[in-house]
Amino acid sequence: EGVTVQELAEALDVSANDIIKRLFLLGTPLTMTQSMSNDLVELVADDLGRQIKIITPEEENTFTFYDDPADLVPRPPVVTVMGHVDHGKTSLLDAIRHTGVTRTEAGGITQHIGASQVSINDRVITFVDTPGHEAFTAMRARGAKVTDVVVLVVAADDGVMPQTIEAINHSKAAEVPIVVAVNKCDKPEANPDRVRQELVEYGVIPEEWGGQNMFVNVSAKQGQGIDDLLETILLQSDVLELKANPDTFASGYILEGKLDRGRGPVATLLVSRGTLHVGDAIVAGQCWGRVRAMLNPRGEQVEVAKPSDPVEILGLSAVPGAGDEFRVFEDDRDARDLADERALKARIEEQNKVKHVTLETLFDEMSQNELRDLNLVVKADVQGSIEALADALGKMDQSEVRINIIHSAVGAISETDVTLAAASNAIIVGFGVRPQGKARDLAEKEKVQIKTYSIIYKAIEDIDAARIGMLKPTE
Ligand code: GDP
Repeated sequence: EGVTVQELAEALDVSANDIIKRLFLLGTPLTMTQSMSNDLVELVADDLGRQIKIITPEEENTFTFYDDPADLVPRPPVVTVMGHVDHGKTSLLDAIRHTGVTRTEAGGITQHIGASQVSINDRVITFVDTPGHEAFTAMRARGAKVTDVVVLVVAADDGVMPQTIEAINHSKAAEVPIVVAVNKCDKPEANPDRVRQELVEYGVIPEEWGGQNMFVNVSAKQGQGIDDLLETILLQSDVLELKANPDTFASGYILEGKLDRGRGPVATLLVSRGTLHVGDAIVAGQCWGRVRAMLNPRGEQVEVAKPSDPVEILGLSAVPGAGDEFRVFEDDRDARDLADERALKARIEEQNKVKHVTLETLFDEMSQNELRDLNLVVKADVQGSIEALADALGKMDQSEVRINIIHSAVGAISETDVTLAAASNAIIVGFGVRPQGKARDLAEKEKVQIKTYSIIYKAIEDIDAARIGMLKPTE
């Protein structure tokens, strides 16, 4: 189902009556709670001089808003520092923070909230700490856009290393421009030109050589070139013309979440659009709440957060995950409803995802997940069958798949057997026995495979074939 008239009105910050009027004029009279087709939504938005894009309607009616250009104002760039281990990412961020602190004379200890802001030439730059390239890409995979510019740190005494290349590839996949900070230039063995030459091979080419990338020589240790780097970041972001509408309900992404003993769930978020206020009703992933308090990266209490501002907030019902989207609602009941709906959807997805191994798919799973164990629950009408099977399995080549009988007993296949198999991602093998009615139902629900045989030789043949991915599905 599409969005209702009321929802669209809220999303666009206009009165529902205005939308109803326009719908009437378009020859489609609708009431507040009736839902609209996507075409109609676009038509009305267009009529209001707004462009909106609807992303996969089955996904919680998520909208990406394209604001009226007149409402857009410049926002600070959001920067992530990447690079090979020990090339000086931490040192560089420290040096940058130090610059910001002395300049604003805020002094004191900076609170660690997973992000920081510095100002230079009366402009602000936001730095986001990502623990690694995987985290950067994991966020992106979830749709979170939290980096405008990547600063690639390369040590001038070490040159391009494996994680340098990885960082380049992750940045390119995200279509984020790279500013190169050639670090450790204070070292006598530093060779910044060699770094430039090496990077050419990976498509990172200095502007002075006709490429697209800005390079800055720095020494994080001695604090040299830091201002130059910050100014270069601003130059790079000017090209991007970063803008956002600050005068609307806030939305953005969670950078990190944690449970604090005294304060409860704490989340650091980055505002992408709108202005976040203390007291706002908010949904973050599957969590909801009211913003009880906000801290800026200097650990100071603030009342508002604008586009590109990172803040730590208190007041959520639970701990959201990195990369979760957040947005503000006018009414906290709506926030709660959306959070509940998302939680329900996630549970359903989770249930559908739980699929246990089968003999026929054992090999496929192996290539995907490096599954190395085939767990079996064996039930038989006589003990001799169990021993014969165990014997034969013991003689099989287990260099690629280790075959484990995690449980065996004489008797019918029971619900307990299924539960055990489900928990251990095991297959149930039966000889001369059948599952009890309830066990069959449970196996179906838990998606546990039950294979029953009357001849032992046939079971051994199947398992041997499954081991090398040669078993064809029969049923
Ligand atoms: P990270 O692993 O990329 O975060 O690297 P670190 O910031 O932890 O730095 C690794 C090592 O390089 C540390 O021993 C730093 O003191 C040193 N280092 C970082 N920047 C510089 C620099 O500009 N010059 C010199 N000589 N050493 C540096």
